[in-house]
Amino acid sequence: MKRFLLNLMIVTSLLFTTLTVFAEVVFRQQCKLEEPPLTVLRVKTAYSNAYAIIGPVQTFLVDTGDSRSWRQIKAEIEEFNPLAWEQLTHIIITHAHFDHAGSATRIQELTNADIITHAGDAYSYERGITDVGNIRQWPWSEAILVPVIQGLFRFKRVFSNTYLEEAEYDLENIVVSESFPAKGYIWHIPGHTPGSLGLVLACGETRLALLGDTVVGENGKLAKQMSFAHDWDLLDEQYERIIDKDFDLIFPGHGNTVFRRQK
Ligand SMILES: [Zn+2]
Ligand SMILES: [Zn+2]
Repeated sequence: MKRFLLNLMIVTSLLFTTLTVFAEVVFRQQCKLEEPPLTVLRVKTAYSNAYAIIGPVQTFLVDTGDSRSWRQIKAEIEEFNPLAWEQLTHIIITHAHFDHAGSATRIQELTNADIITHAGDAYSYERGITDVGNIRQWPWSEAILVPVIQGLFRFKRVFSNTYLEEAEYDLENIVVSESFPAKGYIWHIPGHTPGSLGLVLACGETRLALLGDTVVGENGKLAKQMSFAHDWDLLDEQYERIIDKDFDLIFPGHGNTVFRRQK
């Protein structure tokens, strides 16, 4: 009987380890004294990062992984705090690629959250196609890559509640409560795709930026995304703008969080 119980414990703990979800809190801080903290929860989906920005009464989701990621995103947010999932009001998609927009429509169906995208990628969202542009050194690749990847990496079509056209869109427009701890804006940073977006947040003295595939995090350092882009000159320009802003923390679409300075 003892042996049986021991085996049961081992099996249970193995199962628990396998089933436990691994959301990572990449930022948690009080933006103002005596206010509840702001949390950024990173969900590492199969291909990319999705981030939940969790305030006391409202959650935003930035990116949604591929078409299967919704289950993991839901589970990991609920594991952090069931209320954070229930209070999801907005899904901000950084760009119309299958690994970022893939579960947006499913999550919208589950939560009734509004989807915010940039109008520059509307054509791809509404057809569920991934337009990767071209490989940096091989501009000719677009003619071959685009049709192949469009065929392979489709996602459920996304119909946004808001198609942004502005260069900057104030977060106040979508904040439902005065107690949301961070201020900020959604930022148009075209290049990787015509409608690429970032989310910039100020929490007290700390400035955070979620920048999709315009950048990557490599070994704790910020790097320009060098694989695919619609317009490489534009992407280079965005990278300069990003460097100029001197953000404290950058959350890329792929790779780890970049800490740029310590305060
Ligand atoms: Zn990506
Ligand atoms: Zn991308």
